[in-house]
Amino acid sequence: MTKEDNQAEPESRHFIQQIIDGDLESGKHKTITTRFPPEPNGYLHIGHAKSICLNFGLAKEFPGKCHLRFDDTNPSKEDVEFVESIKEDVKWLGWDWNDNLFHASDYFEKLYDFAVTLIKKEKAYVCDLNAEEVREYRGTLTEPGNDCPTRNRTVEENLELFQQMRDGVFEDGSKTLRAKIDMASPNINMRDPALYRIRRAHHDRTGDKWCIYPMYDFTHCLSDAIEGITHSLCSLEFQDHRPLYDWVIDETGIECHPQQIEFARLNLSYTVMSKRKLRQLVEENIVKGWDDPRMPTISGMRRRGYPAQAIRNFCDKIGLAKRENTIELALLEFCVRESLNKTANRHMGVFNPVKLVITNYPEGESETLEAINNPEDETAGKRSIPFSRELYIERDDFMEDAPKKFFRMAPGREVRLRYAYLVTCQSVVKDDAGEITEIHCTYDPETKGGNAPDGRKVKSTIHWVSAEHAVDAEIRNYELLFTEESPEAKENFLEFVNKDSLNIGSAKVEPYVSTIENKGTLQFERIGYYAFDPDSHSDKLVFNRTVPLRDPSKKAKGK
Ligand code: ATP
Ligand code: MG
Repeated sequence: MTKEDNQAEPESRHFIQQIIDGDLESGKHKTITTRFPPEPNGYLHIGHAKSICLNFGLAKEFPGKCHLRFDDTNPSKEDVEFVESIKEDVKWLGWDWNDNLFHASDYFEKLYDFAVTLIKKEKAYVCDLNAEEVREYRGTLTEPGNDCPTRNRTVEENLELFQQMRDGVFEDGSKTLRAKIDMASPNINMRDPALYRIRRAHHDRTGDKWCIYPMYDFTHCLSDAIEGITHSLCSLEFQDHRPLYDWVIDETGIECHPQQIEFARLNLSYTVMSKRKLRQLVEENIVKGWDDPRMPTISGMRRRGYPAQAIRNFCDKIGLAKRENTIELALLEFCVRESLNKTANRHMGVFNPVKLVITNYPEGESETLEAINNPEDETAGKRSIPFSRELYIERDDFMEDAPKKFFRMAPGREVRLRYAYLVTCQSVVKDDAGEITEIHCTYDPETKGGNAPDGRKVKSTIHWVSAEHAVDAEIRNYELLFTEESPEAKENFLEFVNKDSLNIGSAKVEPYVSTIENKGTLQFERIGYYAFDPDSHSDKLVFNRTVPLRDPSKKAKGK
């Protein structure tokens, strides 16, 4: 069922692959160039991963090139942090832009020249309206707009004013350069859209050189054309901008004319994806940062322990649609489990411990037993685990008055301790409140490794750790960040934040875990997948729950 990255069967090729097939066949293009064009105003999220996997994936498949271009026309303070995080995330996802790292700001001078070209062709003019007036003149969906009073300035006048805009003669927001298209167009994007605005803001790459900045709709298509992009893939909301994309390219006369193709963005249940909303979660301290493991950001998912492979498989599985749709979060978690099942080493950890005393095991002694690291991967090898007279097991794995269907530990019943021995519960010790404090059992020394020489069957295997050797760990269990399936659709999404999305607990884990150097994601047997959190240090392990072993919404199976 799983396909490795982009190995789609011919009949299941999506519509963009088919368009490219056609373009290569007809000779329109010899090779393709795509791009991923993030605006560095936030951290990347799983929706961006879809776009990244699509663009870099196509470049790998056909093959061609994929550029990473920062759409940095909107300077803000955090840019540098965001730029670095975006690069890290793209690399972590497994993609490589090679030498093709670009910035829209690299083209500011060229873009200025293109604007001058438009002015000279009487296709652009300087408008004196302020933002509010522009809105009033724009008209509505049902009514045409009105021409700006300065729409018919002469070319000379426009050239001079535009130069003065650049020279800092005018106040921020007091003038714009606008395309001269059609104020009555049924497509509001074509009603003389702004191409440049005045804004005195320090730019991380161009410093204070510019006090006018080009608008997205002007910058984006020209950046694509300058870079020789063949297929410019974007999400559906840009469909109505496509006529403007094409207009700018045609009217500036730039040779290359990339084809804009829209696809449906990724929406995930129980998740918000707009950067503005994600930023709000961070700024209002609802989460601990952009990389909080509850965030749908790439960095949050990495910290939570999602493998990059799982995210790539997910992006592959969801395919590409031309209509808006919402994908179940459970599918992403399925991909995470599927990937971790193959790669994560197994370990033992007891999350709700009760002491188990093996009364016929010599006091003060211990031995080491051998355990398999990953039954799905022989190369993962084996490790040693210490065994002694006093262990911890899960409280839930014992029942004093066990019903018939309970196969785990109960008085008089023999169970297997994973990788160790068969043990039989003989009695329990309780405190004054009636709570069990110790379970006493005997072991059969002939069953080392977990099998009886006489072949007698035991139904249940439970995990354990040696009390004396176990290491304490902090456990951070995450639940859904939202209680509502489509928080993005709600007027105030913050009302639907799950107040119990983080539960901190503790566990006793086998000592080997504290010696692991490659701090990735592991499985605590019978419990779930957990990732070392960067908050871990030499005397305190901290784990994030990546996913439980099974989808909790599916019916739990009895063990
Ligand atoms: P937001 O609207 O939340 O600010 P954005 O779309 O403006 O996000 P950009 O940095 O401009 O974010 O996005 C870079 C690229 O990622 C764009 O090509 C955009 O279409 C794509 N993208 C963003 N969100 C999604 C999504 N949910 N699914 C697929 N592609 C997406
Ligand atoms: Mg955007």
